[in-house]
Amino acid sequence: MPMLGLGTYGMDDYDECVEAVTTAIEMGYRHVDTAEGYDNEDAVGDAIAEADVEREDLFVATKVSPDNLDYDHVLTSAEESLERLGLDYLDLLYVHWPTGEYEPLDTLQAFAELREEGVIEEIGVSNFEPEQLAEAVEVSEEPVFANQVEMHPLLRQTELQSVCAQEEVDVELVAYSPIARGDVDDVAELQDIAEAHDATPAQVSLAWLREKGVTAIPKAASRDHLRENWLSLAVELDDEDVETIDAIDDEERIVDPDRAPWNQ
Ligand code: NAP
Repeated sequence: MPMLGLGTYGMDDYDECVEAVTTAIEMGYRHVDTAEGYDNEDAVGDAIAEADVEREDLFVATKVSPDNLDYDHVLTSAEESLERLGLDYLDLLYVHWPTGEYEPLDTLQAFAELREEGVIEEIGVSNFEPEQLAEAVEVSEEPVFANQVEMHPLLRQTELQSVCAQEEVDVELVAYSPIARGDVDDVAELQDIAEAHDATPAQVSLAWLREKGVTAIPKAASRDHLRENWLSLAVELDDEDVETIDAIDDEERIVDPDRAPWNQ
């Protein structure tokens, strides 16, 4: 899985989405994150179809919405996503939230079958807390590859990081809202580190995630943001920078619906 991807939440204008995904792929991005709930899989698919890149060189991830998580609905949802994306397999299919129709055995059995049939390469979950993750790993017949959660220097997910690294869990973390929707710009520690590296706080945040071994999927519609985020791959933090970020006092969670498992 390429460690820097493009998020597409909020790109519900067809032309804007095609333009952003096309520009990103031309720039070098090879991982695109969407969801059936984002209402843009057709635009993402059209951009991929037009791109001058082999299908197997791209990593395409989408998500099944909470309303579609019973066994039959998962199978239908995956088929419909593939059709909208114009693809014959998905690199990664996530359970978007452990809510709604989510029922671990039933839901993950459908995901396992999709993987066995080659419809999806990997099984993902999203917004899973350590308890839901442990349960999913235990009941799933196929490996759980990734857990996509909000993560950035203001929400460091230390417990999930250590749980995911355990040998018996072994799940990749994917960070959504990795620049806290731009709020990292206002954090003094990040501004100082950025200045020392001739970088920006957003780039420092993405470099920090990379240091943690976490994949990041910043969303950017504008060419300038796409380029700035891509160039974060050249920012190398040292141990002291990482320690400074690990010690930031402020905490902020952006995506926080009532149904979230951490609010139960
Ligand atoms: P984000 O990537 O942290 O922030 C996106 C916002 O920051 C946009 O307004 C973007 O502006 C701006 N931006 C992008 N690059 C910037 C830069 N270098 N400097 C300053 N501002 C910059 O937040 P997100 O969209 O919430 O998260 C990213 C992706 O994660 C989503 O698109 C989606 O794919 C995924 N996600 C998943 C879940 C889930 O439940 N699994 C939840 C939320 C998000 P422009 O667009 O104008 O360039």
